[in-house]
Amino acid sequence: MSTVQATLFDLPSQPVPTQLGRTFVRSIEVGSILIPTKGRLADYDFSLNPYRGCGFGCNYCYAANFVPDDVRRNAWGEWVEVKANALQVLSRQRDLGDARIYMSSVTDPYQPLEAHTLLSRSLLEHLADRREQPRVVIQTRGPLVTRDIDVLRRLRHLRVNVSVTTDRDEIRKRFEPSCASIERRLDAIRQLKQAGIKVGVCISPMLPIDDPIAFARTLRDLNADRYATGYFHSSDRLFASGTGPAAMQLAKDMGWTRSRFERTRQIIERLIPKFADGAPGFGPE
Ligand code: SF4
Repeated sequence: MSTVQATLFDLPSQPVPTQLGRTFVRSIEVGSILIPTKGRLADYDFSLNPYRGCGFGCNYCYAANFVPDDVRRNAWGEWVEVKANALQVLSRQRDLGDARIYMSSVTDPYQPLEAHTLLSRSLLEHLADRREQPRVVIQTRGPLVTRDIDVLRRLRHLRVNVSVTTDRDEIRKRFEPSCASIERRLDAIRQLKQAGIKVGVCISPMLPIDDPIAFARTLRDLNADRYATGYFHSSDRLFASGTGPAAMQLAKDMGWTRSRFERTRQIIERLIPKFADGAPGFGPE
């Protein structure tokens, strides 16, 4: 057992962790699963995070910043907690009405572990079974979302936001090496659209783009329902939404400055009329 594992999971009441690739996994119980939103998610009512931590472990991930423990924060991507009683807790939630739910704000509901747990699927099935269905936006980088097209089609107010961060897989690998290739994500978007599901394309954070015109044309041809973008957030404060320092340094080394982002954004915006910068593109359905 590595030092990281011993430190992360050294809680006697927890079951022995399992491992998926470089990610150590354990189950936890939670008291609530729908968390009232604020800040950049203020247009939603609740966030819904089936997991704590994220096996994708993108080096720019702002969610890592919210982890209070230094060891875990620095080992972002190497641990995930499965909210084992999430479905039970969600089922107890009454009077949800047509609440606006963002799934997920600090994890990816379709990270590799989901292939084994089917936890996100079970939560969405529950929401689809409700007489009065909430309004759901799923945010993911995981093509695994297409596995659940049968469930997604049953949700009347749904949009799946898929993050497509650059046009070059070599660049993608430097920032988010554990995520699916750009091509697989584009293919997932095509499958979702073919199934009649609304899709948002999130170029967020926008990583260096090699050929903005060709990229914009590829994205426009997907005929997505929304397009959103955003640059890295910078924050020196803990527990604030800020991009990881390794990614900030890498972007600097690659000359990916805010002004280059702005120039690239303007080129893409000219070719995609529905394009939105910042929060509006991520808003509720
Ligand atoms: S997929 Fe999202 S939540 Fe997971 S590490 Fe990447 S940015 Fe963070």
